[in-house]
Amino acid sequence: MEFAARQSINYLEGQPARRPFPAPNAIKELGRLGFQLPEAPTDPEEVIRLLDEVGSPAAVGNTGGRYFGFVIGGSLPVAVAANWVAAAWDQNAGLKVTSPLAAKLEEVAAQWLLEVLGLPQEAGVGFVTGATMANFCGLAAARHALLQRKGWNVEAEGLYGAPEIKVVVGEEVHVSPLKALSLLGFGSERVIRVPINSEGEMLPDQLPPLDDMTIVCLQAGNVNSGAIDPLYEIAKMARARGAWVHIDGAFGLWGAASPQLVSQLKGYDLADSWATDLHKWLNVPYDSGVVICRDPHNLRAAMSINAAYIPPQEEREPYAFTPEMSRRARGAEAWAALYALGRSGVAELIERSCRHAALFAKKLKRAGFEVLNEVNLNQVLVSFGTDELTRRVIAELQREGTCWCGSTTWHGRHVMRISVSSWATTEEDVEVCVEAMARIAKQEKSFKLVGF
Ligand SMILES: *Cc1c(COP(=O)(O)O)cnc(C)c1O
Repeated sequence: MEFAARQSINYLEGQPARRPFPAPNAIKELGRLGFQLPEAPTDPEEVIRLLDEVGSPAAVGNTGGRYFGFVIGGSLPVAVAANWVAAAWDQNAGLKVTSPLAAKLEEVAAQWLLEVLGLPQEAGVGFVTGATMANFCGLAAARHALLQRKGWNVEAEGLYGAPEIKVVVGEEVHVSPLKALSLLGFGSERVIRVPINSEGEMLPDQLPPLDDMTIVCLQAGNVNSGAIDPLYEIAKMARARGAWVHIDGAFGLWGAASPQLVSQLKGYDLADSWATDLHKWLNVPYDSGVVICRDPHNLRAAMSINAAYIPPQEEREPYAFTPEMSRRARGAEAWAALYALGRSGVAELIERSCRHAALFAKKLKRAGFEVLNEVNLNQVLVSFGTDELTRRVIAELQREGTCWCGSTTWHGRHVMRISVSSWATTEEDVEVCVEAMARIAKQEKSFKLVGF
């Protein structure tokens, strides 16, 4: 155990000097982890030694400050430490009776989250693996509430023969709510897709007629551009017609924690349910997300189970808010991160990421490159010229290893996506990374000129 702790600390401390994506030979070495299952026991220290020796050099460096791929947060050291402590406890967080400790941590973390995000204090909160499960839970609560109004018990009777629910999403909806819809029996393609503007925001005047059998699934934080749907306008209209409003705010909802950014999310608090990730912008270790439901009864009803051995619920029973029964004590890391940061620390973390994204955009533009989105949050979309050149710059940047950025398609173009989501990123990181990008772009351009 001591060896493991020491090696983990070495890993974290060595991160700034390490490549943000493992070298090809480190990945090749992963073969050493696969062998015939031994017949006889192996010394635990030997086991951990091999795990560290082969695993650590091959780990993707998202705990460092120069990993900007997808939208993947780092890990606050205090949250990693809380994770270690909680792993030692090995609590089953499903029931209060299996872990009063885990239940208490969730209860407190839930209250703190609602406070930091400015959401109703009486809302129900479920701790799940990530935004996909959070979307699933929020949409399940919606399904329950809308069908209950028509006298249909969907949990008991299922969807065959049930009154029809219309689901409305934006043209740029993330695949995550679509997956949740398919799991819930709504079908991922049986949705009405609303046209969007050039940033990816839903156009309110293009909405279909809404009624009390409609779920409107909005987005706060487009995974490419960071764009936020016009939440106020749509939520107000939807509520007036009795529709259910769900917001997928996997990372963008965290803008609500910042006094500087919250105005971009105007109306976010009018929704009926919200999904967000803690493992992205709050920087707790994977996996961690939350579903929040204005009326906790709808979430509880959608997640309910009846078993004789489960005690009746007078107080908050963790399992009543999630699809799982047995699960780990995710509340520990959330509690530790929020305690350590405090309200202002959370706001500062979010604002700092946005400042760094803006700095990326400014410096890249100054270097002559094209930034394709309005940088409202932490996302920057860059083109180095043609799609072909951009593709080569990304590939070389990934190979060279100063930082790691991925690619995406935006308005039909191949672009580089920078997502600043880690607490560890500094202004100096941004400067060094822009220099590397400019140097590589110049080099790739000249290769092309001489006919490579
Ligand atoms: C990341 C993301 C998701 C999915 O979150 P997971 O934690 O990977 O399940 C959903 N929606 C948006 C907007 C995201 O950025």
